[in-house]
Amino acid sequence: MHQLLNKIKMSLSTFIRTVGNPSRSSMKMQRLKRRIIKRFICSGNFTIAELSRETDFSIPTVTKIVNELLEADVIFDLGKVDTQGGRRPNTYGINSKCAYYLGVEVGRTAVSIALQDLKNEYVNSRENIHFTLENTRPSLEKLCSLINSFIADSGVNREDVIGACINLSGRVNSNAGLSYNFFFSENEALNSIIKSMIDIPVYLENDTRAMAYGEFKAGVVDKERDVIFVNMSWGLGIGIIIDGRLYYGKSGYSGEFGHSPVFDNNILCQCGKKGCLETEISGWALVRDFKEAIKNGNTSLIQQKHSLDDITMEDIMAAAVEDEDVLAIDFMAKIGEKMGRYLSILINIFNPELVVIGGSMASTADYMLYPLRSSIKKFSLNLVSHDCKIKISKLGRSAGVVGACYVVRERLLDMLD
Ligand SMILES: [Zn+2]
Repeated sequence: MHQLLNKIKMSLSTFIRTVGNPSRSSMKMQRLKRRIIKRFICSGNFTIAELSRETDFSIPTVTKIVNELLEADVIFDLGKVDTQGGRRPNTYGINSKCAYYLGVEVGRTAVSIALQDLKNEYVNSRENIHFTLENTRPSLEKLCSLINSFIADSGVNREDVIGACINLSGRVNSNAGLSYNFFFSENEALNSIIKSMIDIPVYLENDTRAMAYGEFKAGVVDKERDVIFVNMSWGLGIGIIIDGRLYYGKSGYSGEFGHSPVFDNNILCQCGKKGCLETEISGWALVRDFKEAIKNGNTSLIQQKHSLDDITMEDIMAAAVEDEDVLAIDFMAKIGEKMGRYLSILINIFNPELVVIGGSMASTADYMLYPLRSSIKKFSLNLVSHDCKIKISKLGRSAGVVGACYVVRERLLDMLD
């Protein structure tokens, strides 16, 4: 148990000793205390009178709880505030440094880690730490050692970190703490294996879903509640937000849009099936097709910098964005056009308010977005798509790690319900 909840628990035991009917009233007080902490975390500062009005509990009861939270350093007394006439009451606010959320985005070649306080401020963050993701025990140990060094460098007490959310690509069951594509063990759930290595409660999240949540909480999403986030990176996936909540599906595998069988191309997908959407719209498909085009006599500025075998997805993105390479731009425009066609299926099914295009390929939005938009116009039902906004991710590469911190925050708020 983390320190914040321990503190709450400790002061609750005081209630049990002092209240006449321990079982019933302590439950009630425990609920009220959680509710008050949640109000402080979500909605800012309050006076005792305001908390009393909002919770429908008496001033003496609320005062008692506020005093206990003050004693436990969970909240601060911010002093007197001006009101219209009458006595000036004291205002109280959350001690944002009494608990932290840790977010970890695990990519194929790099890891990003961030630590957020209770007011959602970053106390430390490191992006793109070199790391090679392999499905092996040493790779997992390396990941945990990077996390441990990061926490040590942050100067924050480990017991104050209330949870870590680790984003992985592929099939992740967040509820069961399982990842099927990386570090799977028959004997123990991955979240408990990692917990034993970093000594912090661990939540697992699918990378695309975490990115979707990052954009939703702190990125390009404004007031929209029904949002589809498209992660166009090495693979292709979507994150679905319905009425402001991430949609997981029964076992947590929702969003595997990239593995929809739409092509009759006989190309084997990374998932083992053939003809998936990913076999033509993804980073790995782009690299394959780009190299093929050069082999067939097309020319690109990339050839001046890299040999054919060494060309990466990032090189192609950079060629389009930085060098205005004609072949790279042509490829991105074609991907945009194809993506628009298949996004039309999602728009017809979900009728979302907003579609966010994110992931590494979003950096080439200047070339991809116009064909994508006209393709949506061409293929979706106009009545369904005419008021659906299409925007490019605002957080870019940080979307995943930002989302991971917010996932931990969400778990804490659920615990306080
Ligand atoms: Zn597939």
